[in-house]
Order: sequence, then C-alpha cells, then structure tokens
Amino acid sequence: MTAPSLFGTVLRLHKSRVLTAALRGHGLRFASFVHQEGYIGGQWVPAASGKLFPVTNPANGEVVGSVADMGEEETQAAIDAAHTAFQTWHKTTAKERSGLLRQWYNLVEEHKEDLARLMVLESGKPLVEARGEISYGSAFLEWYSEEARRIYGEVVQSPVTSKEMVFIRRPIGVASMITPWNFPNAMITRKAGAALAAGCTCVVKPAEDTPFSALALAELAEKAGIPPGVVNVVTASRGNTPAVGNLMCSSPKVAGVFFTGSTGVGKLLYNQCAQGVKRIGLELGGNAPFIVFNSASVKDAVAGLMVAKFRNAGQTCISANRVLVQEGVHDQFLAALKEAVEQQTVVGDGMKDGVTVGPLINAAQLKRVEKIVQETVACGAQVVMGGSVHSAGECFFQPTILTGVTEDMRAFKEEIFGPVIPIKKFETEEEALKTANATQHGLASYFYSQDVSQVWRVARSLEAGMTGINEGLISAAEVAFGGIKESGIGREGSKHGIDDYTYIKYLCFGGIN
Ligand code: ADP
Repeated sequence: MTAPSLFGTVLRLHKSRVLTAALRGHGLRFASFVHQEGYIGGQWVPAASGKLFPVTNPANGEVVGSVADMGEEETQAAIDAAHTAFQTWHKTTAKERSGLLRQWYNLVEEHKEDLARLMVLESGKPLVEARGEISYGSAFLEWYSEEARRIYGEVVQSPVTSKEMVFIRRPIGVASMITPWNFPNAMITRKAGAALAAGCTCVVKPAEDTPFSALALAELAEKAGIPPGVVNVVTASRGNTPAVGNLMCSSPKVAGVFFTGSTGVGKLLYNQCAQGVKRIGLELGGNAPFIVFNSASVKDAVAGLMVAKFRNAGQTCISANRVLVQEGVHDQFLAALKEAVEQQTVVGDGMKDGVTVGPLINAAQLKRVEKIVQETVACGAQVVMGGSVHSAGECFFQPTILTGVTEDMRAFKEEIFGPVIPIKKFETEEEALKTANATQHGLASYFYSQDVSQVWRVARSLEAGMTGINEGLISAAEVAFGGIKESGIGREGSKHGIDDYTYIKYLCFGGIN
C-alpha cells in the first residue's frame, strides 16, 4: 500500500455504486479507479440498455463488481468519437504526443500498487506478478513516449532531375484493439502506446473477465490530459462481444484492428477485416517448445522453465508448452525440476503473501486443462506430480509434471494454458528440432545449451518469432514481440511496434528546373 489514493478519498456518486464488498475489503483506495461505465469521447457512459455484467474473482468466485454491457450502438459511438478525435490528434506534434504518453506513464507508475491490487482481484494472478505486469505495461507508455519522436521518413535518389521523391510516415487513423484477460494492462499499453505515438486514436475492447484494469487505464489517460476521444474503452459481456468485435472490424471509420488472444478468434477477426482490407495485427496462441540439450546447465534450465511455465499459472501465450529433454540429462533434469516445483510453487489466492501460482481465469479454463491432462495420461503419459484440480478453490489446478509425452498426445498438440509441464525425452538435435517445429504455431521457443555452434544452429532453425537462449523470461518493451505461422502477424513493442500504426506516404515533387 504505497501510493496514495488517486484523487483523495472523495468518491463521485456514480463510482461509489460499484464499490462492492470485494473492493471495499481492499480499502477505498480503489475508488478513483473503479468505473462501471465505458469511456467514450472523454465521458463515462453506461450501456444504452442500462445492463451490467458481473466480474468475478477467480480465487474465490466473489463478484468484484459489474460493468456496462455495451453493444453495437455504444461501439459505433466510440468509433465516431475516435474518428472525430483523429482529425485533430494527427495534427499534434510528436513532441506533444510524447509528453502526454510520458504523463500517462508517470500516473501508472505512481499508482502501481492500486492498479496491481485491482488486477489481482479480477485476474487472480499473484500480487508480485501483477506488480510486475504494471511495470511491464507502463514501460510501453514510457518507450513509446520516446519512440514518438523518432518516426522518420526517407529521401530517395530520384532517377530524373525534374523530380524529388520523399517518403513520410502518416498515422493510419482509428485503431480497434481487442485485448485478453491474461495481461489486462500490458496488452493495452503495448498497443495504445504505439498507436498514440504514431498519431492514431483507439477504441479498446478489454476481455470480459478483466475490464476494471482497462477502465483504470482510461481514467489515468484522462488525468494525463490525453484529449477526449483519443482513447475509448467499450466493455461488453461474452454474449455481446461478437457483434461489438464485428463492428470494430467492419466500420469504414476503422483503419486497423489489433488483437491479442486465441488463434480461433484471431482467424475470425482476420476474416472480418478482409472485406474492408484493414490493417491487422494479430498476436495469437503459441505452443512453445522448451529444449534442454545435453550440454545445458541443468540448474539454469530448471530455473528458466519455472519462470516460463508458472508465470500467470501457465496462462501466457509464450508459456513453455512442450518440454524436450535430451536423454543424457533427462533424469537429472526431471529430479531437479520436481524439487523446484515442490519447493517454489505455492498455490492460492494471489492476494496472499508468498503465493506464486494463482487460479486459472475461470471454471471453463480449469475444465479444459483437466481434460488435457486426463486425455494425455489416458494415452500413456506418466504423472510425476500433480495431475488434478487443487483443493484451494474451484479454479485452481495442481502444478503438474507429466513424462513420456509424445507428439500425438493432447498436451503436446495444443496450448495448455495451465500449470502443467509435459516432458518428452529425445536423442538427437535433429529429432528435437523436428518435434519442436511440428506445429502450426510459431510464437516463442526456448532452448538451453552451452555449445556455441549448437546455439547458432538451433537458433536459426527453430520456427518461431522469438527464441529464448538460456533464458526463460524474454519480454520487454524494447523488443519485437510476435509470431510466425498461425501465431500471428506483425510485431508489438520495440521501434517496429509503430510500423503497423503508420503507412508510408510517397510524395513526388515535380517540375523542378
Ligand atoms: P480466451 O478464449 O482465452 O478468452 P479469446 O481469444 O476468446 O481468448 O479472448 C480474447 C479477446 O477476444 C477477449 O477480449 C474476448 O472478449 C475477445 N473475443 C472473443 N470472441 C470474440 C469475437 N467473436 N469477436 C471479437 N472479439 C472476441
């Protein structure tokens, strides 16, 4: 509890309505962040229908609060607001936009603790990880406040003396953003930071499980002085989401759609964008291999896997999903991993001190993970530890290790999104690469080796947008995050994250004597 409450302790009436027992239990400090209305054109607005939908804490099933269940009408209003705001926002200087992004960053940093606690309540992730995500999320605002001023053009060598030829970069316009629940803050800042830096405006539709973090970010954007309509947030229940999403893709006023989420929904959005030939950025599911070669430091590999697997209870698109261990170190690795999991994982409510593995986001995800494990075991895999639901609550799963897993088993075929480590023993580097690349996904990959030739060979050959080499934690604002194959299109973060929000405009100056 370090940061003071944002705007003192005075609550505006409409906000006090959403202070449920769950929120009050953690102090009135949340009051200034908690909105149940959407944020459109600089106003906090309810759903046209007046309907709300509940948001529950996956750790205990308690209702955290309710938010506006918006539909097409409000989405259209948000798109209109973003479109109107764009007409002036794109004329601002990069320096002005940089200053506003920096101010937004400062406010997020200032209120890190409140934002992190709010995130724990709706996402279930351990507090220490929620704090980490706020830092990671704010880093994109900071980074893009800096990058805003480094969007350059080009002067090319004209083939004729009567012409000069120049490329400038222009913002594409209104950007629709649909974001997931596993990183309720950072998946918004990673997109909105780049968009605003480029001179775009945005309409954000957060996941129905975690809208409060998005609305809190909007509150801070408003306080940072970001003009009305530049950032808009539309909240919708799962039922209203398809119609909202469709409009966010099909509206002629929308220039591009940027999505982080499942491959299935990503493909749907890609299709919906085809008709209007929209710019698209997709960051979809992965099925990351994690390879441990005989030459690896087993200790480092175990430490890397603990991070790459158990962060957010395995619910990240870059989680290690298929663990391949070379026969020379297999048994040693397995013993060390088992010891690490036993000693380092503490399952429970993310708000409790010392907890490292929170609940899965909802009961449906828990059932999915349970089924994956059951089917994998039914096909012949062995349970080394865990293997079933955890007694901590309805959405908790035991940290699990399975061995003897093969490519045809479900735990290897699909993204698990849970605290489950399936392991396969392999003999040769060639075999490991063949297995690792035998997927339609290509987001993250990891491997451990101390053999420098092998490091380069494998780094070149792994079919993935990102590879951690002797490292399990690869994300940062400074790096280009994204996948190949069905894992996505485009890159977020780094200087390249701005590319999708701009287009190259060619200017031809003629008649030069
Ligand atoms: P998960 O299944 O893990 O919740 P999703 O891909 O379904 O992952 O969710 C990511 C985001 O996509 C969320 O904001 C969700 O509301 C949104 N979403 C889900 N279905 C659709 C859809 N048909 N159109 C637009 N957005 C959708």
